[in-house]
This record gives sequence, structure tokens and C-alpha cells, in this order.
Amino acid sequence: MEDIRLHIGLDDIDSPMGGCTTHIAVQIVHELSGKGNTWFTDYLNLIRLNPAVPWKTRGNGAVAIRLSVAGESDLVDVIEYVENRVDEYVAEYSNPKHQPSLVFLIGDVPGFLEKYGEKALYDFIPLDYALRVIGKLGEKIRVHAPRGRRGLIGALAAIGIQMLSGDYTYELIAYRKHEYIGKPRMIDENSIMEMDKATQGKTILNYDYESKRPLIIPRGPDPVLYGIRGEYPWDLIDAFKYLRVFEPVEYMAVFRTNQHTDSHLHPVDTVCDVHPYMCVRLTGTVSSKPRRIQGGHLVFKVCNECCMDVAVYEPTKRFRDVVEKLEPGDKVEVMGCVRPGSRSHGATLNLEKICVIELARKTIKLNPLCPKCGRRMESAGKGKGFKCRHCGYKSLELSKEEIVVPRDIQTMCYQPPLHVFKHVMRPLGRPVVHRVFTGSELITPFVWKLS
Ligand code: ATP
Repeated sequence: MEDIRLHIGLDDIDSPMGGCTTHIAVQIVHELSGKGNTWFTDYLNLIRLNPAVPWKTRGNGAVAIRLSVAGESDLVDVIEYVENRVDEYVAEYSNPKHQPSLVFLIGDVPGFLEKYGEKALYDFIPLDYALRVIGKLGEKIRVHAPRGRRGLIGALAAIGIQMLSGDYTYELIAYRKHEYIGKPRMIDENSIMEMDKATQGKTILNYDYESKRPLIIPRGPDPVLYGIRGEYPWDLIDAFKYLRVFEPVEYMAVFRTNQHTDSHLHPVDTVCDVHPYMCVRLTGTVSSKPRRIQGGHLVFKVCNECCMDVAVYEPTKRFRDVVEKLEPGDKVEVMGCVRPGSRSHGATLNLEKICVIELARKTIKLNPLCPKCGRRMESAGKGKGFKCRHCGYKSLELSKEEIVVPRDIQTMCYQPPLHVFKHVMRPLGRPVVHRVFTGSELITPFVWKLS
């Protein structure tokens, strides 16, 4: 008998009381790996979907588990087991605002589901669209959404985004024991810096030296103790050994992810192609001098056939100060997600990164230099030319001089401080890596129960 492929998508299972979609997925993988007749075909996939979706809690994460089972009866067992396990978890970590959802896809992922997943990375997906895709999958799909169907949008997308080729990264997540959730995380910060220095180029965003903040530790009462992101699983396994952790770790797991790849930035040709809740990268011309608004935020206009406001927020400090040096006429590539308009402003791109492509020539007009004594002259009155206050020289012929002002910004890319980075944003120092995942590079186990 032939193995049956099963993809399980999970979303919206997090709760302010300590639950998290990745946490239950890790427990499921750990428990299934002990059952036999079940083989994982990939690491846990952690997909960061469109970060501009209004109802996301934190990083708009959804998870896919991909496996093979030996036959029909194992398939039924696995599905039933996962549904029950998620129901139990949701009962324990309840969240009235959320709509925990599971999607099971049997067999291969069809092209139209891949396309759906790609769109969920950068665009807003109406529930109707997700339900139409589910309908099209017919017998191959089963869903479990006991408290509302919104979570199906993300669970289905996680299955569609297989990351078989292109850029992807890994994350090693360590989970706390239940009784520690909500208490301060006990990790020696110096050991995070030591790890960061020892694994440079292999791990991503461990520590922000500018704001003196560790980046591998989430804030808030979720079960994640720390998460180290990096290029390969073995780099992460080397990295975590540097950490000095003073509380028990319950689980550890390796995820394959789209984090820090900019996979949410959809390239568009013109500003006219942009709509609210969309994340884009586009080239345009600065058409207004950046101005500070209430709260210390910065706003300027960028145009390419159409025009839109671009905002840089106060907490990005240094980034905002650089962007403030733009001038009308500068050619730039802007990257970010679009906030819908309100009564006071139109749709606005929240700037994540910017590349200055070409700087406009900035000039000022000054009175001419005196040909006799070399000092700057002054106007002699309307229509009366210029006079020199120092030597008395007068001229009707001389005219104002145009001076090119040196620009205090360069043709290069700029990013905000690391502590404001979203999970999916690629730091400028991390090159885009083209990879192919065939499954043969999977190292098992990739989930461990430690205490
Ligand atoms: P956490 O990171 O803690 O898991 P979260 O930020 O991932 O929390 P969720 O609780 O997963 O937030 O909520 C995100 C919700 O948005 C889900 O219901 C998901 O189905 C939905 N969603 C995800 N992507 C899109 C999209 N592109 N368009 C519309 N809805 C989406």
C-alpha cells in the first residue's frame, strides 16, 4: 500500500493566557512521532502571513505540519487525534476573540492553493476567497473550525506556502514549562551577546546593541522562552548551547520559516496598483519634503503615476532622521504595508525600508561675490542690481549665483533600528539566499521534550 501525504494547517490558536499556535503544533509533532506509521516530510513550517492584517495578535504566524501516513486508517487516526488535541488546548488556553482553525489536505498541494498562499503573504484575503479554495479542493480537504472560520484563512495559506524553492530560514524555539509562563524569562543577557558574536552570519537578529535589547526573547505571557533564527538548523543547534538559561525548558523545536526574507513585499509597478492592507515594494519619486507631524512621526509623498503618503514612525528614531533628509525629486524604492485612509489622512504606506536610487540636485541662490574684494554682495534695491557693503563696488549686470548644496543622504538602502523589525523583514545585512528544499535535508528529530 502507498503512503498517504497529509498537510495540516493551524492558525489562530494563540491566547493572552499563554497559548500559541506554534506551541500546540510542537506538542502534536512530538506526540505523533511516538505513534509509528507516521513520517514527517518537513520541519514544522512557521509562516508569517501579511503583517498588516488588522486582527493579528502578534506576528500573524500560521503553522503547517507535513507528514506521510501508512494508510487510510492511520490517516483517520491522525486527523481525529489532532482535532481532539487542539480542542483540549483551546479549552485550556481560551481566547474568546480567536477562531482556532485546522485544515487537513490529503495528497499534493495544487497550484491554485500555492497561489492562494502567496497572496496571503502580502494581501488581505476575504474569508469568501478562502472558502472558495476549500470548496475547490473537494474530497481532498477537511476543516475543523469549531469557533468561527476566520482562522481557516491562515491555516489554509500555511499549507499552500511550501517554501520548496527560494529564500527561507530556520528558527529554533524553546518553550517554557506551564508554571513559568507569565514570569520574567531567566536567561543571562550576556550569554545572548556571546552567542550573537560567535555565530555571526549564521544567526539573525539576536541582540540590538543600539537599544541594548535581546531580540530572541519575546515579551508577554506566551510559552516561548526564546527563539533563535538562522540560516541552517545545525547553526541553531550550535547557537543555543551558548545561552545560560536558568529555568527548565519543556520543548525545543526547529521550524522552517519565511522569517527575515521580505516575502511579504510584493513588487508593484506604480502607486496606482496599491490598496489598503497590502505590503509592497515600489519605485517612485519623492514629491514633497518630509514633514514632522504630531507625535514626532514623519510623512512625505511618493509618486509614480499616482501618489501616496509614506509614514515613518517616531520609535524608529535614527531611521526617521535619515528619511527626513529626502528632497522632492529624489528617486526611491519604498517598502512597507499600507494602512487604510481615515478622515484625517489618505491610505499611507508605513515605511519598513527605503533605498535611495537617485538624488535630486539641490541648489540655493545666493547674491554674487564682489569681483573687486571677493566678499558676498547685497541687493541694492529692486531693479538696482547689487552693491558691496565692504568696498562700495556696485553692479547692474551681476546676477544671483546658483550653488549646489551637498546632500546629507546617500544612494543606498536604509533600515530602522533592529528592535522595531517585524518577523518577516529582512535585515539589510542578510543576503537573499536561493535554496531548494527536497526533504532529503530533513534531520529528525526536530522536536524534543526536555522536561
Ligand atoms: P501569534 O503570532 O501569536 O500566533 P498572530 O499574530 O498570528 O498571533 P492570529 O491569532 O494567528 O495572530 O490571527 C491572525 C488572523 O488573521 C487569523 O484568523 C488568520 O486566519 C487571519 N489571516 C492571516 N492572514 C490573512 C490575510 N492575508 N488576510 C486576511 N486574514 C488573514
